[in-house]
Amino acid sequence: MRVPFIAGNWKMYTNLQEASKLASSLVNSLKNPEQKEVVICPPYIYLGEIREIINNSGIKLGAQNAYFQPQGAFTGEVSFTMLKDIGCDYVIVGHSERRQIFNEDNELVNKKLKASLSCGLSPIFCVGELLEERERGETERVVRLQIESGLDDIPAEDFVKIIIAYEPVWAIGTGKNATPEQAQEVHSFIRKLVAHLSNGSIAQEMRIIYGGSVKAENIERLAEQKDIDGALVGGASLSAESFIKIVQ
Ligand code: PEP
Repeated sequence: MRVPFIAGNWKMYTNLQEASKLASSLVNSLKNPEQKEVVICPPYIYLGEIREIINNSGIKLGAQNAYFQPQGAFTGEVSFTMLKDIGCDYVIVGHSERRQIFNEDNELVNKKLKASLSCGLSPIFCVGELLEERERGETERVVRLQIESGLDDIPAEDFVKIIIAYEPVWAIGTGKNATPEQAQEVHSFIRKLVAHLSNGSIAQEMRIIYGGSVKAENIERLAEQKDIDGALVGGASLSAESFIKIVQ
């Protein structure tokens, strides 16, 4: 059985006080979440503080990005090794905001996935098509390319450490979301693709989560779908009340 996985991506929101308050509220309501894995991804700068707040709560710490080199003259960057060192278990890789605003391509995403796995961090690997790509009927082509390039040269036995997040770009932060059926269709396609790249049992074990305007009101129907194993939540993870409802 695949353990449901829910991650909150706080993006570049919150100040220290808000971040601490949000984490404390989650700890109070979600302590030792049963049969679910709950991860929060605050901005880098608050990771140390939040780690102390969620310590021993069962809620895990994730980061939103990292650079693939372990160390060096890369002013302003943070490495996967550093994130592991500070207590992260997860890191988001290939988020559409990184791909679009910071020009991250599939090749860089592949380097980041490898760097993440090599230091024992589990990547939340984001893929998804633009609206015009969906309208041109190219969703599967785009998602296939992102997954094949992202997983290139990664041993199949490592696939189960990766969480794939299917996030149609047109649904991120827009209030529009894919219907549960549209999402299921792509999740099922991804699971078959992973089976083709590895084998059926790895594909069955791998968690594939959905992201794109997930809220308390729409999570239930999404989570009912056979191949949807959880959610990557942006906006709605910034309110303790709504994130708690989503998890529950
Ligand atoms: C995200 O940041 O990955 C995301 C899905 O955001 P939102 O839930 O706000 O659409």
